[in-house]
Amino acid sequence: MAQKRNAEIIHRDAVVVDAHCDTLSLLVEGRSSLAGAGQGHVDLRRLRQGGVNVVFFAVFVHPKYRGVYLRKALEQVDTFHTMAAAHRDVLSAVCEYSGIRRALAEEKIAGILTVEGGHVLEGSLGVLRVLYHMHVRCLTLTWNGRNKIAYGVGESEIKKGLTPFGREVVREMERLGMLVDVAHLAPTGFWDVIDMATKPVIDTHANSRVLCDHPRNLTDEQVRALAGTGGVIGVNFVPAFVSPAHPTVETVADHIEHLAAVGGIDCVGIGSDFDGTAKTVTGLDDVSCLPLLTTCLVDRGWPQADIRKVLGGNWLRVLKETLN
Ligand SMILES: [Zn+2]
Repeated sequence: MAQKRNAEIIHRDAVVVDAHCDTLSLLVEGRSSLAGAGQGHVDLRRLRQGGVNVVFFAVFVHPKYRGVYLRKALEQVDTFHTMAAAHRDVLSAVCEYSGIRRALAEEKIAGILTVEGGHVLEGSLGVLRVLYHMHVRCLTLTWNGRNKIAYGVGESEIKKGLTPFGREVVREMERLGMLVDVAHLAPTGFWDVIDMATKPVIDTHANSRVLCDHPRNLTDEQVRALAGTGGVIGVNFVPAFVSPAHPTVETVADHIEHLAAVGGIDCVGIGSDFDGTAKTVTGLDDVSCLPLLTTCLVDRGWPQADIRKVLGGNWLRVLKETLN
């Protein structure tokens, strides 16, 4: 009982960051609302219950919308800014580190706009810069397929890495002060990014391939390389990436422990993927359940300082280093 109380206090006092959710996709289609209606895993009440302080809201346009990628993306950018304005008393749209600190001081939830899938750039650095001007601060270079930047993990032809345009995108993102996200990227592209990066490289939502052999997860070699750039991996709650059999909050904690053992405690964070998956891990049904993860780590004897890093301290460090 004392242990449980202790975990509650640690969770409440920590800065909690979730580096990936697909809530915007549901909001733009009217399938969810931040006020709590609809079928989503994320709304403002449950973010509060989950003790979440900073959320990355990903714009995601399914590749089936060929020809209208940018319009579809901009509609979600609009949704992000519209909802932030509508809920400005509790939610703050931020694009600078100082904005995050201000939101934390005002006890508001800080929302960071991201784009999942470089296909929305349609091969244009100008589009990248326009998205930056609209406060996008992180780009996941690919989704599962191939685009003008690189190949995703779903492609069978994955020998090729970053295209010349892909290299320009990474260079320009670093110059602007955007987080370069290798989630969904095929291994050859991953290693190209590691080779050319001069800033921390992140994976907003993935797990360990040693514990769960799924192409979306990272090998130990990849974990060490990413950690070597000062980057962070957001541990993901999609059941298929956690375990082929009975994924639970304990199995998610196993991934956290493995990534920390391989890459060091400074490379582990959270990237739930809530609203990006219909199925959820037992015990982690929606974003309000996040404190259970802290309880789990406390039960395993983790020191408070390490738990705080995983809950959000590591993401805050990378945001501080990367955002201009
Ligand atoms: Zn994803």
